[in-house]
Amino acid sequence: MPYLHAPEDLAQLLEDEPSYRVDQLRDWLYRTPVLDAADMTNLPTSLRDRIAPTLWPFAVEVEQSADAGTTRKWLFRASDGAAIEAVLMGYPKRATLCISSQAGCALGCTFCATGQFGFERHLQPGEIVAQVAYARAFLRQIGMPGVPGRLTNVVFMGMGEPLANYDRVREAIRRLVETMGMSARSITVSTVGIVPGIRRLADEPWPVNLAISLHAADDELRSRLVPINKRYPIADLEAAAAAYYEKKRRRVSIEWTMMDGVNDTLEQADELAAIASRLHAHVNLIALNPTPLSDERPSTQLHIEQFAEALKTRAVNVTVRDTRGREIDAACGQLRAVSGISR
Ligand code: SAH
Ligand code: SF4
Repeated sequence: MPYLHAPEDLAQLLEDEPSYRVDQLRDWLYRTPVLDAADMTNLPTSLRDRIAPTLWPFAVEVEQSADAGTTRKWLFRASDGAAIEAVLMGYPKRATLCISSQAGCALGCTFCATGQFGFERHLQPGEIVAQVAYARAFLRQIGMPGVPGRLTNVVFMGMGEPLANYDRVREAIRRLVETMGMSARSITVSTVGIVPGIRRLADEPWPVNLAISLHAADDELRSRLVPINKRYPIADLEAAAAAYYEKKRRRVSIEWTMMDGVNDTLEQADELAAIASRLHAHVNLIALNPTPLSDERPSTQLHIEQFAEALKTRAVNVTVRDTRGREIDAACGQLRAVSGISR
């Protein structure tokens, strides 16, 4: 499985081949990925045949399309049965891939389907990078209507907490940047607030974007929604995010999932505005996508608008995010490897 080898170690896989073959294969894996090894046109057929059955470190178990073909969700299945979900969202000028860093998640945020279904295992760097390679190959070879054939952004907002799988995520980012040639500025790491992880990320050489999933502006409420807040309370999280901004000079964003009557009050908006101002952060509001094991409801459109207005009047940059792929359970927080689980 070539993606499970570090790009520098590919020669191990092709022991009997000359080194230029290794370079050619590396290009096919990382520079111009293809869905099928049969399309690796400058490799001999025998080698293509050898690579083909294990090109991807997972099988494509489910592929679903929504939003007139501009949203696509894949459920990949690793050979040990671990589920890996990725969602590609196409727009007129960009294409963003939402990737998973873990199969499941151990952190148990109450409103998140991944959290509700628990932790399966960490993903390997190659399993993380292969999601990106697969989407790049898909865009190049199949494409989406009215969407560029090039992947422009990668966000770690699929299943799992990237900073709870730090070393493997770090290695995945290294491969995306150094081997695939992606700009670190086009990569966003979204975290529930693992403070030591944020501090380590600030010391890495890559200026990736940092998104903080805040959802509540006081510790009492946040600890209820996001249990890990008891370990890393808001003040510590804010300090780590501020240090990231200072060091990287990359604007931090704050994610806020809007839950009816829970965190959509004007008091919360006030406290959030104070935090966002201190961090020079951009706030992304997203209506909750209902999940099977939680009774929380999304905020009404009116409350979302009022909340956004309250932030704007306090000079905070705010975007209300669209919820792509709702009908195929591909929207934020809905990923949980539904295959085989009836509802
Ligand atoms: N573990 C990381 C990244 C994966 S979750 C994190 O928590 O940031 C990606 C985003 O989806 C987070 O901002 C998360 O809070 C949000 N999210 C989770 N469940 C959601 C839901 N049901 N509706 C809307 N957003 C949700
Ligand atoms: Fe894990 Fe993020 Fe879901 Fe929380 S919101 S359970 S950290 S994936």
